[in-house]
Amino acid sequence: MKRKDLRALAGDPRFIPGIYNYCDRWCERCPLSNRCLNYAMEQADDDGDPASRDLANQKFWQKLHEIFQKTLTMIREEAAARGVDLDDTKLRSEVAAQERAERRQAAKNRPLARTAMAYTNAVDQWMKGAKPLLEAKRDELTTQARLVIGDPESEAKRLWDFIEVIRWYQHFIYVKLCRAIGSRATEELETDEEMRRFPKDSDGTAKIALIAMDRSISAWAGLREAMGDEGDGILDLLAQLAAIRRETEQLFPDARAFVRPGFD
Ligand code: SF4
Repeated sequence: MKRKDLRALAGDPRFIPGIYNYCDRWCERCPLSNRCLNYAMEQADDDGDPASRDLANQKFWQKLHEIFQKTLTMIREEAAARGVDLDDTKLRSEVAAQERAERRQAAKNRPLARTAMAYTNAVDQWMKGAKPLLEAKRDELTTQARLVIGDPESEAKRLWDFIEVIRWYQHFIYVKLCRAIGSRATEELETDEEMRRFPKDSDGTAKIALIAMDRSISAWAGLREAMGDEGDGILDLLAQLAAIRRETEQLFPDARAFVRPGFD
């Protein structure tokens, strides 16, 4: 997308400022995608490769990086046109970015982040172990469809939906918790009282992580019910997730009350 087009797009009043900061990045299911500048930019740049929309894929992050770079260039041009020299602040912002990166790195070692990472890995293990069960379930539903028994199509759709939800948020929870912890560390260094009164990025980020946990818990519970006695191990995952949620709510007590642009 050309910068000229990007500038025209960014000026469209239908977009809700900052809506993409505290969303779940699941654009295909987003009820507000037509109000989101980020989505419009991605659509304009869409190369048709599903990997570029997959949160766990390198291509997704590369794409995000490219969008960020283009936006940065646009901001620089705007600043220059207004006579503001951004290079004056460049060094300071580079140091700040480096410090932020170090805090994010440190966040990965916090117990909450480690537990979230353990959950991410446990989901992979469960999915791997449950493959034969899921395949057997698929065969059972196919037989039911052939014999015209019940509503196997809806059941298959429901099952698939639970798995999609679990998979979508599997890595997301960890990534967002690391960011929330890192942001909290940055916010604690803020000395300006005025700034301290602003809604906090750590709370907004923790809120979307909590929403991801709520939805994952519902999906696991639904999957357990659908799989009956065969849903072995799901209870452990539910307990793991519930513990992460509890700990997140304790660490970020104001997160649930955070108002996300557009969504709340
Ligand atoms: S606000 Fe919606 S459309 Fe925009 S990035 Fe988030 S999920 Fe995607």
